[in-house]
Amino acid sequence: MRNLYLRQTTAAEIDGQVRKVLRGLDNPSPPLRLDDVRELLKLDRQYYSKSAHGVLAETVSRLKIAGKQVLRRPSLLLDAIVRAELKALYVPDRKLILLDDTVPEIKQRWSESHEIAHSLLGWHGSILLGDDRVTLNLACHQQIEAEANFGASRLLFLQDQFGMVARDTQCSMEAIRFLGRQFGNSITSTLWRYVELMDTPVLGVVSQHPHYTDDTFDPQEPCRYFVRSSSFAEKFSGVDELLIFPLMRSKCSWKKAGPVASDEVVLGDNDGVNHIFDFEAFYNRYEMLSLFVHRHAIGKRIAIVATSGVSTGITA
Ligand SMILES: [Zn+2]
Repeated sequence: MRNLYLRQTTAAEIDGQVRKVLRGLDNPSPPLRLDDVRELLKLDRQYYSKSAHGVLAETVSRLKIAGKQVLRRPSLLLDAIVRAELKALYVPDRKLILLDDTVPEIKQRWSESHEIAHSLLGWHGSILLGDDRVTLNLACHQQIEAEANFGASRLLFLQDQFGMVARDTQCSMEAIRFLGRQFGNSITSTLWRYVELMDTPVLGVVSQHPHYTDDTFDPQEPCRYFVRSSSFAEKFSGVDELLIFPLMRSKCSWKKAGPVASDEVVLGDNDGVNHIFDFEAFYNRYEMLSLFVHRHAIGKRIAIVATSGVSTGITA
């Protein structure tokens, strides 16, 4: 799945809400404490458990996931939660965030911020929002979910603070892992934000380990996330996940943890010019994170002189 960018006016509006929160907390240093955010916004948090059952039962007839009504009979509530694999939920009239306590802590941080973003965005209104693995996915394109994910990201990465620090680093997997620790965020969400910030052609990929794919692996969509910097998307629009994944496989070691690749690869741009990229991959036993960083063009194209006399070739 590829990353998309929100409309500028929408993004600015969401950013305005996030700014108010951060200002209310005196523009904190990383990592952001979500306890402080909840306290400021007077939000409550509970985990899925019997104690939350009462609250859920009252509101469940209004429960929607990705805009669709999921349940008419509250008695089937727990069934529905299991079936829909709900990971998080926001109950607006209670200002209550509900989280699945079986989700690992670092992912709960994302879920909680996503629900906080729903609470901040007035136009998400009174819809009771349930979130499953799909809507919490960084790449979810459904409008309100994309907005909540953007808000979560701006909050957890402290708006432009991340960018200021990130731009000072040399683009590498090591820098991404360091920044992940500094901001208290997962390496996956850090990779995502990092790549989007880069002014040069950079590609970030989250996938299974190419040598150890499981039953859920889809050869037609081999990459879970395919995140392109805008410069990469513009100049290398022909480079897709079907091209990249076999390339990753050919360069990766069979190691089952830690760094699994560090090599140069060649990618062709839209004008047919080849470019060298540094390729690095890291496997954390669940997912492989890959980074492709542009170095330089190779070879020269001979300028082609058109009959009109205007040079249409590009000398690289
Ligand atoms: Zn949501």
